[in-house]
Amino acid sequence: MTTASTSVTPIDHWIDGSSDPGTGTTRGDVFDPATGQLTGQVAHATVRDVTAAVTAAERAFRSWAATPPHVRARVLFRFRDLLETHRDRLAAIITAEHGKVFSDAQGEVTRGLEVVEFACGIPQLLKGEFSENVGRAVDGVTFRQPLGVVAGISPFNFPAMVPLWMFPVALACGNTFIMKPSEKDPTLSVELAALLTEAGLPDGVFNVVHGDKVAVDALLRDPRVEAISFVGSTPVAEYVHTAAAANGKRVQALGGAKNHMVVMPDADLDQAVSALMGAAYGSAGERCMAISVAVPVGEETARQLRERLVKALADLKVGPGTTDGVEMGPLVTREHRDKVAGYLDIGVAEGAELVVDGRQAEIPGAGEGYFLGGSLFDHVGPGMRIYTEEIFGPVLAVVRAGSFAEALTLVNEHEFGNGTAIFTRDGNTARTFLAEVKAGMVGVNVPIPVPMAFHSFGGWKRSLFGDHHVHGPEGVRFYTRTKTATVRWPGDSSVTTEFAMPTHT
Ligand code: NAD
Repeated sequence: MTTASTSVTPIDHWIDGSSDPGTGTTRGDVFDPATGQLTGQVAHATVRDVTAAVTAAERAFRSWAATPPHVRARVLFRFRDLLETHRDRLAAIITAEHGKVFSDAQGEVTRGLEVVEFACGIPQLLKGEFSENVGRAVDGVTFRQPLGVVAGISPFNFPAMVPLWMFPVALACGNTFIMKPSEKDPTLSVELAALLTEAGLPDGVFNVVHGDKVAVDALLRDPRVEAISFVGSTPVAEYVHTAAAANGKRVQALGGAKNHMVVMPDADLDQAVSALMGAAYGSAGERCMAISVAVPVGEETARQLRERLVKALADLKVGPGTTDGVEMGPLVTREHRDKVAGYLDIGVAEGAELVVDGRQAEIPGAGEGYFLGGSLFDHVGPGMRIYTEEIFGPVLAVVRAGSFAEALTLVNEHEFGNGTAIFTRDGNTARTFLAEVKAGMVGVNVPIPVPMAFHSFGGWKRSLFGDHHVHGPEGVRFYTRTKTATVRWPGDSSVTTEFAMPTHT
């Protein structure tokens, strides 16, 4: 953290419809990971700043909640069009702050835009239930209402998509929102706020506060915040879940992952290797749905898989995300790059075989950027830290299994259960895997089974704390609560005073 400077772009909060520098005296540094250059300084919110944002959201709630759903949807339709118009500009910001390659950043914006498209259907999604004649001349009706002020806290790895998993559905349901993006790549959230305002969203309905634990804790403590959506690492997810629940809030907290891909002897190996390369090394492995463990079943499958992976890794194009043809960019910060590189030493010390060492990779244009080539470990054992811990970098561990049952047990016994995949030609094996695997999202010959916006996204085990997954139908349930009314109108002469529980016998 440094004192604010004017030589780089200041990144401010967005409170009550406009940019706001806040009351803090310190700012966090934001770097371009491809060059190591300081590019921005982000305001870190004080408790006062968070309180101001919650007050703005609370003030805006009544009118926004009373706005008919189809009218709220019209704002989202316009926002969706603005996202499309500005997609490349937004993607360029993502590449500049996160480091991922430009085409990947474009894809991220598009996947977020699809959640907005889902949320545009809110009039249909909010339709309630009606039962005529639950008693004589009495009707029953159940409808969904927004919660009030809700907040989202997001990680660095998807600065557009993860916020877009949350707020479009929350706003469509009639809530007002406070976004607390990652302090490592904070600009996107403010850009999204400006586009929402341009789309016609009333002031105060969507606010952004930047910062770290101080801002998060202020949101967790403010009694006016009804619900928290969190996405990030497991220790912080668990903390947020516990603290929010203790303060009486509804909470969904999505955590870390260690996603396994089981490769059966009958799999199409070319397809499996090409899938593994994208899933393990795309976005430098900084995806919660990245495949970080390959589980070939049988020695011959392992031998062939390893041989092909080594060849493919030799061709992996690493470099600045703005360079055409580059497949993998830098890691997000110098500290994170060093931490990931540290796991390579840990794995070797634990007895795994480091088949490809990403530290040796020739990376054109690397300069002072936070680059690391793709790495491959073989003969990784389930007790090793490089297997149990989430590395969140371009490091793939091969754990050999003797049978399908052994592979399945491996996946099921891991503490994380975000995503997983199986590559096979056999329908029965795939069906058994789907039925028995303990993970929230499963791919069959699909390496990164991220659900589309109209389904819901979320893991099992220590990859999710809370009951609801995000976006899709689960998102609507999370951001609303039901109310059930039993209605009778005057004029029914059969009504008598009842002291017993009313029944229809
Ligand atoms: P992180 O947990 O460090 O940070 C996430 C958010 O929490 C940030 O906004 C950060 O400012 C805040 N935060 C950090 N430390 C905190 C603390 N002690 N108290 C309160 N708030 C705190 O995560 P990250 O490094 O930004 O992101 C990577 C992690 O996110 C990985 O573990 C990855 O698997 C996970 N992730 C999970 C999913 C999912 O859907 N399950 C999706 C994306 C990323």
